[in-house]
Amino acid sequence: MGGDPALAPPALQEGAAQGKPAIPSVIPQRKTLGIVGRAGKHLRSLRGFFYATAAPARPKPSRSFESHWEFIGARLRQFITYAVMMCVFLPLAFSPFLGLNGSMTSDEKASLARFIDLASAHCRGGYLAGQTEYRFADDISTDTVDSMERLADDVRSCEACRLCKTRKKAVPGEGVLSPLVMVIGEGPGADEDATGRPFVGRAGQLLDKMLAAIGLSRQTNSFIANVIKCRPPQNRDPYPDETIACASFLSRQIQLLRPRFILCAGRIAGQTLLETTAPIGKLRGKFVDYKCGDLTMPFIATYHPSALLRNEELKRPAWEDLKLLRSALVDAGLGDRLQ
Ligand code: SF4
Repeated sequence: MGGDPALAPPALQEGAAQGKPAIPSVIPQRKTLGIVGRAGKHLRSLRGFFYATAAPARPKPSRSFESHWEFIGARLRQFITYAVMMCVFLPLAFSPFLGLNGSMTSDEKASLARFIDLASAHCRGGYLAGQTEYRFADDISTDTVDSMERLADDVRSCEACRLCKTRKKAVPGEGVLSPLVMVIGEGPGADEDATGRPFVGRAGQLLDKMLAAIGLSRQTNSFIANVIKCRPPQNRDPYPDETIACASFLSRQIQLLRPRFILCAGRIAGQTLLETTAPIGKLRGKFVDYKCGDLTMPFIATYHPSALLRNEELKRPAWEDLKLLRSALVDAGLGDRLQ
C-alpha cells in the first residue's frame, strides 16, 4: 500500500526504510478543551459526529478557550442571557392578550425591543449586530397627526417671505405618516398653486406613474413635499432668501415623518438639500447620507418629472434611479410595504 516511499516526507521515508508502514499508526488528536479520560473521549466522538454531519455545509467561526472553565463560563453567561430574554420576551409576546403594553411609551417599547435584539445577538455567539431603529405604528397617531396638521396650518398662514403675496394657495405637502419614501421637489407650479396640493399637474401625474412602477404611492407609503411651499411667480427659481425662510418647514416635516428614504426630484431641490452647486447629472444615480437634526437617512436624487416631459432621453437614467431606490428598499427589509 502507499506509493513510492521516496516521495514521502523524510520522517516517513525513515519508517518505510525500516519496514514500518508509511502512514503513522497514531494520528495526533486535537485536545478537546483539555478534557481527558472517558469524558474527553465522549466529547471527541460527539464533536466528530457533528463535524462529520454538519461542518461541510458551512464553516463556523472558530473561538479558542484558555481552559474548560472559560468555556463553561461563556456557556453559562449565554444561558443566563437567554433565560433573562425569555423572561422578558414571553410576557411581551402575550402582552397584547393581557393588555399590558397599552400604557408603554414609544421609548419604552423601543428600549425593550433593542434589549431583546442585543440579548439574542449575544446568544448567537456574542456578535452585536447594527442598531435597529424601532417604530411602532400605534404611537404615530396622535402626536404626529396633530403636529402635521399644525404645521400645515402654519404653512398656509405663513408670511415669512415675499411669495405669500403672490400665491393663491400654499402647498404644505401630502401623503402618509411614517412614509417609506419622502419625495421632495422644488416648489409648486400653477396647478399646485390653484389646488394647494403637491405634484398634481402633468408632471405630478408622471411622478405618480413613476412611483407606482416601483410600488410607491402617496396614498399608501409615501409623502410628497417641496422645498418651497408657495409658488414663485412665472415658475422662476426660488431666491436664496426665500429658500432659507422656508427651510424650517421642510426640516420639521422630515423630523415628524421620519421617512426611511428621501427621493429628491430635480436640480433645485438637490442643490438646496445637499448645499451644493453641482448639476443634477452629477447628484443623481447614487445614495448619500442626508442629515436632518438627529436623523440620518439614505438620499437619492433624480430628474424632475417636468424635465422628463421636456426631454425623453432623461427617462432612462431616471428609471435607473428608481430601480436603485426600489432595490435599497427591498434590501432594507421594507419590500412588504411596497405595493
Ligand atoms: Fe412662508 Fe415658505 Fe410661503 Fe415663503 S414660501 S411665504 S416662507 S411658506
